[in-house]
Amino acid sequence: MGKMIVLIATLAIIYYIGREVLGAFRHLTDEELLDYWAGRTKAEDRKAQRRFSEHLGSCEKCRDRLDEIRRDNSGPGADAPMIERRY
Ligand SMILES: [Zn+2]
Repeated sequence: MGKMIVLIATLAIIYYIGREVLGAFRHLTDEELLDYWAGRTKAEDRKAQRRFSEHLGSCEKCRDRLDEIRRDNSGPGADAPMIERRY
């Protein structure tokens, strides 16, 4: 029984780390970019915030898309209700 718990905990840790690592390579969705830009990611999920920052630091594609989103949306502060309504 004890071994079972250790096994499950180990698998959970591997899964968790794997998800974090793979997440850094995954491109961000438009919604994620928008949340990031609007400051919602920072407020709600610090880990995701860090992952997005790292990804944007190394991915030109997503930086370009973030630039587009910046052009189409007003920045942090002018935020939530307007944007939320679109989804
Ligand atoms: Zn990317």
